Amino acid sequence: MINFIFGIHSHQPLGNFGWVFEEAYNKSYRPFMEILEEFSSMKVAVHFSGPLLEWIDENHPEYIELLKKLVKKGQLEIVVAGFYEPVLAAIPKEDRIEQIKLLKEFAKKLGYDAKGVWLTERVWQPELVKTLKESGIEYVIVDDYHFMSAGLSKDELYWPYYTEDGGEVIVVFPIDETLRYLIPFRPVEKTIRYLEGLADDDPSKMAVFHDDGEKFGVWPGTYEWVYQKGWLREFFDAITSNEKINLMLYSEYLSKFTPRGLVYLPIASYFEMSEWSLPAKQAKLFVEFVGRLKGRNEFERYRMFVRGGIWKNFFYKYPESNFMHKRMLYVSKLVRDIPEARKYLLKAQCNDAYWHGVFGGVYLPHLRRAVWENIIRAQSFVSTGNRVFDVDFDGKTEVMLENESFIATIKPHYGGSIFELSSKRKGVNYGDVLARRWEHYHDISTSTPEEECDGIASIHELGKKIPEKIKRELAYDWQLRAILQDHFIPTTETLDSYRLVRYRELGDFINQPYEFELYDGGVRLWRNGGIYAEKKVPAKVEKRIELVNDGFLAEYRVSLSEPYRALFGVEINLAVHSVMESPEEFEAGRIFVNDPHGIGKVEIELDRKANIWKFPVKTLSQSESGWDFIQQGVSYTLLFPVEKELEFEIRFREIT
Ligand code: CA
Repeated sequence: MINFIFGIHSHQPLGNFGWVFEEAYNKSYRPFMEILEEFSSMKVAVHFSGPLLEWIDENHPEYIELLKKLVKKGQLEIVVAGFYEPVLAAIPKEDRIEQIKLLKEFAKKLGYDAKGVWLTERVWQPELVKTLKESGIEYVIVDDYHFMSAGLSKDELYWPYYTEDGGEVIVVFPIDETLRYLIPFRPVEKTIRYLEGLADDDPSKMAVFHDDGEKFGVWPGTYEWVYQKGWLREFFDAITSNEKINLMLYSEYLSKFTPRGLVYLPIASYFEMSEWSLPAKQAKLFVEFVGRLKGRNEFERYRMFVRGGIWKNFFYKYPESNFMHKRMLYVSKLVRDIPEARKYLLKAQCNDAYWHGVFGGVYLPHLRRAVWENIIRAQSFVSTGNRVFDVDFDGKTEVMLENESFIATIKPHYGGSIFELSSKRKGVNYGDVLARRWEHYHDISTSTPEEECDGIASIHELGKKIPEKIKRELAYDWQLRAILQDHFIPTTETLDSYRLVRYRELGDFINQPYEFELYDGGVRLWRNGGIYAEKKVPAKVEKRIELVNDGFLAEYRVSLSEPYRALFGVEINLAVHSVMESPEEFEAGRIFVNDPHGIGKVEIELDRKANIWKFPVKTLSQSESGWDFIQQGVSYTLLFPVEKELEFEIRFREIT
């Protein structure tokens, strides 16, 4: 006999498009539960995230009724998490408790008193034990990989365990990775045979499958496989009629058996996450290392010692994500006692936009936009005025300017540029533009052959090659992207050489420190740097930035200690969503931006005409459907010929 717990976790990121919700609902969430209803002896542990439940509640209230019905019939066990699907380890304790409480309340509405937690992205951190206990949670679901990382062998992982921290104890259930790769991608009989193979005379032995609900209909090819070809019906039928398999729910198991013993789990997530969270170079090495072990047939033997990075290091890998995260943490403290602001803050903690694995994540501008919108909305309840402090915990201070309409965060140590220009009226951060960077999977030029040809390929097996059309336009930035980045460019360079990063940067201003002082109304920043031509020409760039009611004003003064002919370029990266087909070069004293689905209308006004280089900033990332070449924003570089002295003004105006 083998006890079998079958669970799914369904989630749509906050800020995802309505049609994505609708499609996922029709291809997965709805048919899954409808078929479950047909099999009254089938039982499933389910987790629905808050953003998804809110959408369903509003668009398909009949589904909520179906869930209630299934709970009542004992076919569903509701497992909770943070309401807006935060990675619990990445948010403050107070917020974790509030998030879990919110989803527990929703579960109550469905008729279930939830005691279990689906650990978002299975990001485990020992000190979560205390938070979970305080939230009334008794068990949490993690991966077998967590246990292997603690040194337990696979044959010890067919039971739940206790784990302890600070004198508090909680139960941890390991998810069986083999089942994650079998269900639903391989024929039903493979899962049945695997489960039968685990059966023995220990009545407490169990195997857990708990994975994304989207694998049942949303992932490529799965709708046809799971529903049209009848995989799910066949599976439910086989599971409920097999005499060696005893279908259970988590709570049922705990009412019958006691966990096997006490273990201590290290900070970990599932195996794939340990690859994705590594910096790109090391991720490539990691893949190579795993491949080598597999090639020698040594992987299974040594895999418990094979570990990559940890989830939180996405904040190291993507400084843009780190900045957004630390801004969220800052607001979390600011609005801790402001009930009206809390909901926005909790929404801003939705995990998807903060990282990147096999889904777009941080690469998807509309997901980041949703996070920023909620950060800005939450912060709008308080006003702190201009401040100088280390926003993103990198040891270097930022300048945060604030007036009634805007919040601007300037990094004096990084070119004196504006890294955040948030509009309180629109709830957008104009400066939310992700830099173009190399990812370790960009190098994979051939597809990996499938080990088995029955069933369908899971996302991890989809072979890919970068199309030539993308390769021609692909470039990697050496700098982060911001507003008011100061370039010195040789007069011979072109828009193409510039945007494809094949040009020569003459100055040392972009990512170098500026000195600064606040004055009544704004900040003055300056750097004594240089132009590095045949010899060094000392150069000074000075800019005054002031927030005004409808935007900002920047006054520039550039001076060279001896004459040198170059182009001085001020680059402004804006989070423009509307697709720009091809780069443009033109002369203008005024740039009008119209971006109906993104930042809206904006005007950049100069006190003279300048040559403008304008191009879309496009990143290459992987997603469940293949390659995404995504426009993160548009770069506008205002070019002024300079020889000795130069003074000009830029006015950024928001149009509402
Ligand atoms: Ca900082």
